[in-house]
Parts: sequence; structure tokens; C-alpha cells
Amino acid sequence: MLSDIRIVLVNTSHTGNIGSAARAMKTMGLSSLYLVDPITPPDGKSIALAAGAGDVLANAKIVGSLEEAVSECGLVVGTSARSRTLPWPMLTPRECGHKLVTESEKYPVALVFGRENNGLSNEELQQCHFHVCIPANPDYSSLNIAAAVQTLCYEIRVNHLDIKAQQYAPAVEAEYPLSEDLERFYVHLEKTLKDVNFIVQNHPGVVMTKLRRLFNRVRPETQELNILRGILSSVDKASGNKK
Ligand code: SAH
Repeated sequence: MLSDIRIVLVNTSHTGNIGSAARAMKTMGLSSLYLVDPITPPDGKSIALAAGAGDVLANAKIVGSLEEAVSECGLVVGTSARSRTLPWPMLTPRECGHKLVTESEKYPVALVFGRENNGLSNEELQQCHFHVCIPANPDYSSLNIAAAVQTLCYEIRVNHLDIKAQQYAPAVEAEYPLSEDLERFYVHLEKTLKDVNFIVQNHPGVVMTKLRRLFNRVRPETQELNILRGILSSVDKASGNKK
């Protein structure tokens, strides 16, 4: 699923960063790396920093332009450490992860990273549908490129796991009791607590209010409420009191 999300690094100058980016990608389950006109192609330093992600590096595609890297993508998101003079539709990192994951089911999508020294040009940013900015310290907002890749790939992973969890979640919706059923339960609970002298008849205090708040917070399902009613009946029986 994540194989259709490509990470595009434009004009990277440090080969070590290419390796670190590959490693960041692989830890989050991504594998498609595009290098647009790197100043130096991946070398020994890249391999060393890629560590166990040598395969991502070895399969990286080197292309001559951003156009070429994203031509068959249906969604292109550009990254930027600062908001430019160019106002553009923005995504938060979380929204970006969600959009990339959901749309990658239909077509390849791309997340584009800029040069270490001066990011993406305005022309390159204009080739993107959206921009995403990691809301870092405003006084020092520029992350190392591989750290930015790690952060945004993490958001991709979290969204991917969320969607997977929803797919495997049981389809049956919980059934909740009606408010009259809850009221009957509170009446029963109060009676039982009085019968066993937990609540003193003439000094009831705030116990019932606190218990109501507790049960409302938990919002018991119908089955759970039935269990609670059953417990109260057992207590009634054991203490010799009829409801
Ligand atoms: N001085 C450059 C910083 C480039 S940092 C500039 O101001 O644009 C290299 C790349 O890392 C950026 O092009 C971007 O792809 C990514 N990056 C760094 N910090 C980021 C942030 N806070 N949000 C999003 N991407 C960031």
C-alpha cells in the first residue's frame, strides 16, 4: 500500500542525507525514492548512513527534473520550512499523511523535499497541489532534510495504521441502553446501596451524583448494563433483600 507513496529529494547536496532519508523511509514502511538531479549521486557515505535500508537506496530512481519525478502522480505535496510570499493550500503534517495514504490507493502520490541550503524554488512549489510545513520552533524551524523525511513519513505510517485498524475493527456497532433503562438502573443501584447501608437513608450525600457521572462517562453498552443489573440482583439476594 505505501509503495505508491514516493519520496522525492530535489538537488540534494550531501550524499549522507540521501542515505539517512532512505533509512527514515524504510523504518516507516516506505520504499519508493526519487532523486532529482542530486549534486553527487549516492556514494559510500549514503550506503553507510542508509544502514539496513541499502535496498531503498539501491532502488532509488535518479531523474533529471521534478516534472519527470512526479509525471504519473495524481497528488504532489511540497514541503517547506517557512511560509513563503507564495500563498498556497496548506496541509498540516497529519492531514498530509491522511491525504497521501488515502489517495495512493488510486494513483501514485509524491512528497517533495528541497535543497539543504535553500529548499524548493517557487517554481517547484508551484508544481505541487499542496504545501506542508512541520510546525517547528518559529525561531529555528529548519529541520535536517532526513529529519523532515522521518517526521512526515511517521505521519504517513500513523494514518496507514489507523486505516488498517478500522478495516479490521468488528463491524458490529455497540448497542446502548435507552435513557429510561439507565434511570431504572440508577433507581435499583440506589435502593441496593441503601439496603446494604452504603448510602445512609437520611444522609445520602453526593454518592449517587458521582456514580451517575461515572456511568455517564463510561456510557455502558446494553449488555454491560444487564451485567450490572444482574450484579445488583445477586447482592439483593445475598443480603436477603428483595428489590
Ligand atoms: N533554508 C531552507 C531549508 C531547507 S531544509 C529553506 O528555508 O527552505 C531542507 C528541506 O527539508 C526543505 O526543503 C524541506 O523539504 C525539509 N524541511 C526542513 N524543515 C522543514 C519544516 N519545518 N517543514 C517541512 N519541511 C521541512
